[in-house]
Amino acid sequence: MGKFLGKLDLFGMIVLIAALGLYSYRGVWTVYQTAAAAAGGAMILAAIVAKRREIAAALKRRSTLFSLNSFISVLIILGILSLINFLGYRHNKRFDMTAEKLHSLSDQTLKVLDQIQVPVKAWAFYPGGEYKPAKDLLIEYRARNKKFEFEFVDPDKQPQVAKKYNVRVYGRFNNPFTRISVVYGTVVLESDGRTEKIEKQDEEVREEDITNALLRIIKPESKVIYFLTGHGEKSIDESEAEGYSMVKEGLEQERYQVKSLSLVREQKVPDDCAVLVVAGPATEPFPEELDKINQYLERGGSLFALLDPPPAAGLRDFLLKWSVEVGDDLILDGTDNFPTRFLVNDACVLAKKTLVHGAILRFDGQVTTIAPGDGPCYRCVFPEPPPPGAVPSCSQAGILGAVAGIIGSIMAAEAVKAVLNLPGLLKGRILSMNALDMSFREVNIRRDPNCAVCGDNPAITRPFDMEFSCEIGDGG
Ligand SMILES: [Zn+2]
Repeated sequence: MGKFLGKLDLFGMIVLIAALGLYSYRGVWTVYQTAAAAAGGAMILAAIVAKRREIAAALKRRSTLFSLNSFISVLIILGILSLINFLGYRHNKRFDMTAEKLHSLSDQTLKVLDQIQVPVKAWAFYPGGEYKPAKDLLIEYRARNKKFEFEFVDPDKQPQVAKKYNVRVYGRFNNPFTRISVVYGTVVLESDGRTEKIEKQDEEVREEDITNALLRIIKPESKVIYFLTGHGEKSIDESEAEGYSMVKEGLEQERYQVKSLSLVREQKVPDDCAVLVVAGPATEPFPEELDKINQYLERGGSLFALLDPPPAAGLRDFLLKWSVEVGDDLILDGTDNFPTRFLVNDACVLAKKTLVHGAILRFDGQVTTIAPGDGPCYRCVFPEPPPPGAVPSCSQAGILGAVAGIIGSIMAAEAVKAVLNLPGLLKGRILSMNALDMSFREVNIRRDPNCAVCGDNPAITRPFDMEFSCEIGDGG
């Protein structure tokens, strides 16, 4: 019996740690955990009572020669104290002894609730509608500030409401190991036309989740993005193919304010400008405008420049002052028709610019990178375009979007390597793929000394546009 009692505190400790540990991990306290914690506590208590004389003697004695059993008991008591301390720190939960569970919100939550000036509504989406633990929590929020209200919605019974708030996360989670069943849902806070969503998969919504969302919705941090105008930039008000109205909408959905800015009219870039976007100007901004942008950057501002190829404005000199070099040394050719393919190849070889070439037709695709002076060009392999009608054009044979995606991605990877001067470019290699059997093949190609454009005695010394009949090559 004595031996059993000696180990009892250890068993008790394990049971207690399991119960508390589960709470720490899941943040859910159930009746099973209460029972386990009580049993564990009782076991420890029983062991301590049984060994009380031994422990007291051990604590009094200055010698370290007390029994191991007593030593373990002391350690266990210290362990429990520090574990409770740790949990208290982690969950920052005040234990509320009042029957109505009043005043059990944290100080931080109360502070946030006191700041609410405009109505905030919490839509709580739970399977079956009301869910008591969440309701108890929301009642406390409302008790503090009547501007806060809530409503429970069963997403299966009111799918139109769930759809309006784009609610997908709700259900019941049964843990097969602990047999604990958790009901989880989505809480959407709505205020002044804006929403904040709290989605907890397989988990309870906690006070800190609601308070954080509340903080975000009552103090929205709305950054302002300005788009420069006046030089043929893409317009945020235009919905045509070149227009940026969808960009504006997308940014506004992300809670940014989007405005146009004319630096001819304004004295400076506004102080609330989070980022200034210069979206594809056709002509260079005036020097006074660039001065204003420069002052803005010196104040710590941010610039996002999108540049079209020449003859559009490059902002080259301006950006170089800020150590940004606008290069024109890489060409990606996805045009995929014969006149353009040969023209681009010749022009790149003559101008010594790296060319990433991609082509697709039906289920086939191919990529190669041409680095003039370092390997073959396209004309080394195909000296002449095929005779008219020999190869069906894309518009005749069709292309597959998925193949375009694969080839486009490979070209993009080539471009990244070329820009970063990394090895491994598809130089001297044609990578071809077939999506039907999903095979990739590689063919090595060599520079032809007799090539008309990159050979030892080139016949082509300036780019020329070959006259083609319309039968081939107008595809894409
Ligand atoms: Zn060549």
